[in-house]
Amino acid sequence: MIRQNMHIHSSYSWDSKLNLDTIAHILVENHISYGAITDHVEFDREDVLSVIKRLNIRNEEINHINQLYQGKLILLKAVEISEPHWYPDEVKELEKVEDLDFIMGSIHSIPRNAESKYEREDVYYRYYKEVIKMIQANQIDVVGHLDYINRYYGKDYSFYRQLSDIFSLLKEYDMILEMNTSAERRCHLNTFPSLEKLVRYKLIKNEIVLGTDAHRENELVSNLEQAELITKELGFQPVIYQKRKRIKL
Ligand SMILES: [Zn+2]
Ligand SMILES: [Zn+2]
Repeated sequence: MIRQNMHIHSSYSWDSKLNLDTIAHILVENHISYGAITDHVEFDREDVLSVIKRLNIRNEEINHINQLYQGKLILLKAVEISEPHWYPDEVKELEKVEDLDFIMGSIHSIPRNAESKYEREDVYYRYYKEVIKMIQANQIDVVGHLDYINRYYGKDYSFYRQLSDIFSLLKEYDMILEMNTSAERRCHLNTFPSLEKLVRYKLIKNEIVLGTDAHRENELVSNLEQAELITKELGFQPVIYQKRKRIKL
């Protein structure tokens, strides 16, 4: 299996100090052939021009590293946009960054303090509703860490029907899910999304990307082997993206 980590935050993300050299070095040591740098884009913190400026500088650095590691590693130029459907014009501007390999969209804005079952079901309902709106806005390639809400509640309060809608929309808009291994280190769950949802997703789509959501050195390969095993067991086809085109590995 050609190894990949499609979810890495470099020092171009506000919450990571990982420099691109270190990332490349560790990925190569671990025989990972493709690493996607999915730096955070949060339009409530930053205007689109500053984001584009930052990404252009980063992408030049990535080009340099890709030359150094030719034949061993390719770093992909990606972003993880928080709630992209709240900022359609900004995302449209960002799409003009010509060497962007893919856009991951993630829902991060999640209330953490719902207590009763009723409140929790409500928070879950609203979380997946945002996921649905994000897919329908049709501006992203990959849905990042579906089920991230389980990080705060442990137990899954999602609704079967709402998930069915999400899976049919993924098919309709030809978007794919990320299998995110940070679930293990963040809350002792297998993956985001849960195994049960991965099984359901497999019924409608075969393709997937694997990511660890690394913000530190020791997270660059954490639980990746387990995700690779699940990929094999469930029969998924791992893919990468280059210039927003999906490529099977
Ligand atoms: Zn995220
Ligand atoms: Zn992330």
